[in-house]
Amino acid sequence: MIDLHVHTTASDGRSTPEELVRQLAKARITVTAVTDHDTTAAVAEVRAHAEARRIRVITGIEITAVRDSEDVHMLGYGFDPGHPALVTFLATQRADRRRRLEEMHAKLVALGLPVEIEPQMAATAEKSGRALGRPLLAAALLKAGYVDSIAEAFDRYLGNGGPAFVPRRGASPADVVALVHDAGGVASIAHPGKLKSDALIEPLAAAGLDAIEAYHPDHDAVATAAYRSRAAKLGLLVTGGSDFHGRESGRVDAMGTVTLPADDFAQLAERIR
Ligand code: AMP
Ligand code: ZN
Ligand code: FE
Ligand code: FE
Repeated sequence: MIDLHVHTTASDGRSTPEELVRQLAKARITVTAVTDHDTTAAVAEVRAHAEARRIRVITGIEITAVRDSEDVHMLGYGFDPGHPALVTFLATQRADRRRRLEEMHAKLVALGLPVEIEPQMAATAEKSGRALGRPLLAAALLKAGYVDSIAEAFDRYLGNGGPAFVPRRGASPADVVALVHDAGGVASIAHPGKLKSDALIEPLAAAGLDAIEAYHPDHDAVATAAYRSRAAKLGLLVTGGSDFHGRESGRVDAMGTVTLPADDFAQLAERIR
């Protein structure tokens, strides 16, 4: 079984590379791609652990692009993780994540919610290539007892337009497609049903988009079929996976249940290293 969308502790997943590989093996996944947000820091370690279990690891990433001040997640597969322009771009993305968290943290303090954001973690994150995100602030709000759940932290403070919200700065989805191509990979638009980014698909296809993520836990059978036929009409490939963030991440655990059909992977595999 094939799962081309999983996260680790290098971004907002709960599983270390080693734990992730154990979970993948247990779920009988034989081909995977680690798609952490704005970092490839975990790819080599996952691959090293996966080898012994005969799990194939495709180089992957989930890059946050911005369009009309809304986030659009873009997946990249089979690129060169050492490509200089990509490496520079991702470091900039992570620096902006830290800038944004610091500004959001200041807003929380001003709101009378003086949480700790693990200063060491923020300071050492770049050395390890770790991508920080709002879940860090949500966890801090929860730990301090200001909210009763991560979801409440987003609903009341951190979500789009919330009192502690600070917009992201970033590249457009089309820029991300071009960057992934420069690095030798293929680009897929992540979970368009979740982001309600259907209107982006056609213009992005014209700009060189390679694939649509049709298989995702936020897509029901009807949505998956619709994205499949959309891809076929536009001459695009189909990707998919569980968007696994680890056990106890507060998300559905779709590892082993939301997978990419082997035929779709075979077509993708022809295009990647
Ligand atoms: P960031 O990358 O800093 O914009 O944070 C986005 C991440 O926050 C997402 O990838 C989710 O993991 C998490 N997130 C966003 N909205 C919610 C929500 N309503 N409840 C729980 N987690 C959320
Ligand atoms: Zn995530
Ligand atoms: Fe995503
Ligand atoms: Fe994801």
